[in-house]
Amino acid sequence: MTSACDDNTLIFYHVVGIDPDEESGFINAVTRLPQILVRPPLGVEIQVRPLPTQAYGVVESIASGCSLPEGISDARFELLDVPGCRTFIVTACRNDHPLAQLARKGNPKAVWGATCGRFALVYNLGNPYGVWHEALHLLRAQDCYTADDDGPTCELQNCIMQYAATHETVGDWPFLCAPNCDRVRRFVRGIAP
Ligand SMILES: [Zn+2]
Ligand SMILES: [Zn+2]
Repeated sequence: MTSACDDNTLIFYHVVGIDPDEESGFINAVTRLPQILVRPPLGVEIQVRPLPTQAYGVVESIASGCSLPEGISDARFELLDVPGCRTFIVTACRNDHPLAQLARKGNPKAVWGATCGRFALVYNLGNPYGVWHEALHLLRAQDCYTADDDGPTCELQNCIMQYAATHETVGDWPFLCAPNCDRVRRFVRGIAP
């Protein structure tokens, strides 16, 4: 990758083995994310771009080296490095795809998607909130639900980091609680690693 990065945070998106309708829903969700996150109360700038075709093989390599929840070596991302930029990948696949099966094996609670270091996988296609939830994990947002009963652990009733986020439970922006806004802001602005 030689093109420069205007912002510090760049998310590549990519799909494997999904039909065109599902693909356009996913791409619509992921490309709306920068417009959402730039608004108050969060106010951060990120970029999203399609994953260059020559890098498709990297995803397989990253995903197969991904052992949730430990994460993966950053070395696998070297091929995707863009000068001046922190790079991430969000990949969409079907629920029964081997990558989705691998993610659930690592974390049985990951019913819709999973994040592993700088790589996120989403397989609840048709739900933009699932895409945004996983992408926000890449930007350091943490889950807002308890491990035992999935109950909320933050005060924002429609927080997207609560369990199984949907249009019904989350609705319109703003939908990220103050502690997570703080984490994401500090990360994207380079204050926190
Ligand atoms: Zn989560
Ligand atoms: Zn929250």
